[in-house]
Amino acid sequence: MRRPFIAANWKMHKTAQEAVAYAEHFLPLVGQLREATTDIVLAPPFLALPALAQELSRGPGSTSPPIGVAAQNVSAEPHGAFTGEISLDMLTAAGATSVILGHSERRQLFGETDAGVRAKTRATLAAGLTPIVCIGETLDDRETNRTLDVLTRQVEQGLDGRSREEIGTLVMAYEPVWAIGTGRVATPEQANAAHRHVRGKLKEQFGTDGAAACRIIYGGSVKPDSIAALMAQPEVDGALVGGASLDPVSFAKIVALSHETA
Ligand code: PEP
Repeated sequence: MRRPFIAANWKMHKTAQEAVAYAEHFLPLVGQLREATTDIVLAPPFLALPALAQELSRGPGSTSPPIGVAAQNVSAEPHGAFTGEISLDMLTAAGATSVILGHSERRQLFGETDAGVRAKTRATLAAGLTPIVCIGETLDDRETNRTLDVLTRQVEQGLDGRSREEIGTLVMAYEPVWAIGTGRVATPEQANAAHRHVRGKLKEQFGTDGAAACRIIYGGSVKPDSIAALMAQPEVDGALVGGASLDPVSFAKIVALSHETA
């Protein structure tokens, strides 16, 4: 059985001080899940990452399971003249354990491509961090029956060149663009069908073992009242949560409910 993976994407919200205050509030709320087998990850803005990682490593409930810290992006380059970029070494030194790659906002607003996602995924795995690779169709893609083609392209091109062992360690996030930040959550059946397709593609490209081990999580307007039905689907291994993760009480509820359902 795959271990559930629940991640909070704070986007461009929270200073370092606010992130630490969040952790102080959040840790006791998930304290009773210490023996749980759920991976919990918080993705703050870069500047809040070191303080949050430090706070999580010393707060209550920090030993089992550890709460990870993710970056929301990274450069595929190790260093050099790349103004405004952040390297994997810098993230590792700051305490990051994983990196969100190819989020639809990066694809749509900042020109991220499948080739860019491929390079960043390769570099992130080589650095020993967990890539959370985001894929998903637009509303236009869905309405013109191109959802599965888009997912196929994103999986094939984004993961090309990776080994079957690597596929088993990374996390895929299926995030239909029309559901992100819109309040319009995919139905559990829509999410499950997309995840099943992605896992089928992983199997074709990388074999049964890697595909079976890879966690495929859903993102798009997940709230405490929608998480249980999503997690009840066999192909849904967790969630990437934006808006509803900004409040520690709401995110702790999502973590608890996903744990109960998994
Ligand atoms: C996201 O940003 O990855 C996301 C899923 O956001 P929201 O939960 O707000 O739709």
